[in-house]
Amino acid sequence: YAAKQRTEGPVVYDAAMDKSSAKSLSLLTELRHAAERDEFRLYVQPKISLETGKVVGMESLVRWVHPERGNVFPDEFIPFAEQTGFIRILTRWVLEKSAELCRELTSRGHHLKVSVNLSTRDLLDQDLPAKFADLLTRYKLTSGSFCLEITESAIMDDPVRAQHTLERLSAMGLDLSIDDFGTGYSSLAYLKRLPVNELKIDKSFVLNMENDVGDTKIVRSTIDLGHNMGLRVVAEGIESEAVWRLLADLGCDQGQGYFMSRPIPADQLFGWLEKWRAPVAVATPVVEVDV
Ligand code: C2E
Ligand code: MG
Ligand code: MG
Ligand code: MG
Repeated sequence: YAAKQRTEGPVVYDAAMDKSSAKSLSLLTELRHAAERDEFRLYVQPKISLETGKVVGMESLVRWVHPERGNVFPDEFIPFAEQTGFIRILTRWVLEKSAELCRELTSRGHHLKVSVNLSTRDLLDQDLPAKFADLLTRYKLTSGSFCLEITESAIMDDPVRAQHTLERLSAMGLDLSIDDFGTGYSSLAYLKRLPVNELKIDKSFVLNMENDVGDTKIVRSTIDLGHNMGLRVVAEGIESEAVWRLLADLGCDQGQGYFMSRPIPADQLFGWLEKWRAPVAVATPVVEVDV
């Protein structure tokens, strides 16, 4: 099995799939059909500087527009796609679409960084750095156009190989971000070992932080930790102006959240960028932070 995992090629038949499960088999069939029928959609959520209110980038988030079930969210199929190896096909699709969007943005004079989520299987793919190099060449992008978001669980599966892949990607100039920071088991050990550029504070600490002193303390400590290590700190899950202000006062660099924008179809980003105005008077702290 270990040997099989290392081989490249048609990953959808990976041995990790539970062949005894009819339900799994049909979901895998459906995912493959979805790819053939072009049912995946690229959504993006803007990433904003909390200090200046300017758009600095966007995160690619995949949606599956199912003919009967409607919009299927990634939490419902990503874990399964991971288990079966289908994720590599999906990741390739997301990377291609993200690069295409980045090229289009660059031609229109927007210099935004695109963040893409990677899974365990992606990090175990020895060819990933070569695939990125090819992608950058084909779309005439610099490596600075991409930020790769990885979760602690993705690294944990095979830390040695994951670290090797990440070091190669980082050496190429791609940014690395630890996603959902604070929810894993050994976040600090990874920060010490991996070539990380960014910490992304998990939304569970952010969503309700204006009413929760404990959350605010955790967020403040995480921002300080990130800054002490020379990293950029991003908060996800900003749903109100109060939380934006609180985070800005704490020195958090960037943020994403429904308050600024929900994830939107990639082709709507251009219209959104035209209309975007910072919703708060930036750089004028009004909230007293005293926790
Ligand atoms: P994530 O990477 O941590 O992405 C953030 C999630 O939080 C997104 O959910 C986003 O829509 C949601 N979110 C953003 N702002 C707010 C907010 O203000 N309030 C609330 N309640 N939620 C907010 P989404 O799009 O459903 O994605 C869920 C997860 O699925 C992602 O978490 C990521 O781990 C995974 N995922 C999504 N797209 C991909 C992909 O292309 N590849 C891989 N490997 N994983 C993906
Ligand atoms: Mg993410
Ligand atoms: Mg996250
Ligand atoms: Mg998450």
